[in-house]
Amino acid sequence: MVKLDHIDAWIFDLDNTLYSGDADFFAQIDKKITSFISDFLSLPPTEARILQKQYLVKYGTSLSGLMAEHGMDPADYLDHVHDINLDVLIPDPDLAIGIENLPGRKFIFTNGSRGHAKRVGDHLGIYDLFDGVFAIEDIDYIPKPKRGPYEKFISAFDIDPKKSFMAEDSVRNLEAPKAMGMSTLLITSQLDWSHEPKAARPHDGKNVPHFVDMHTNDLTGWLLKLM
Ligand SMILES: [Mg+2]
Repeated sequence: MVKLDHIDAWIFDLDNTLYSGDADFFAQIDKKITSFISDFLSLPPTEARILQKQYLVKYGTSLSGLMAEHGMDPADYLDHVHDINLDVLIPDPDLAIGIENLPGRKFIFTNGSRGHAKRVGDHLGIYDLFDGVFAIEDIDYIPKPKRGPYEKFISAFDIDPKKSFMAEDSVRNLEAPKAMGMSTLLITSQLDWSHEPKAARPHDGKNVPHFVDMHTNDLTGWLLKLM
């Protein structure tokens, strides 16, 4: 176990991190993205899906690729893809306890929208436990894993990265925070719910890269062990 006594800022990704990727919740968003691209670019769904995944790998999110290559307005896209049923997400009271007991400030830093973070966070009963939420609107739609969004985030909340911790399910999103001095926790999943290209697929915890300090497939259990 890496030493964490010095941490005073606890940063969490939202999707597939603050709830388990095994819940198959994000798959709904994934399908919504495909249907949006199919309509927006008048493509058959199979072609829309290929483009969606190419943009995800190249730009960090499919949204960022659509904005860069097609000049798309992000608002309609975000409304469409985040309009999903929350029922499959079961709130976990122990997760709330684990977050509440962390010593220091807590943040959500997501490539999703502010509205999505609020809706999911409220549903999980954890939203009000956070001192700040940084969403895709706050990083000018330029997503993690690019370095710029992290710089913007730590500056907005006056965070010292050397005293920070970041939890993420997307392994590539931990490279920049580690380089900045943060301690990193990868949330793993055995279930390849995403069918993403390799660079963006959920990590199974085998052969983690050097910028991953710790990994777990159970964030709640991991947090409770810190108490
Ligand atoms: Mg995520």
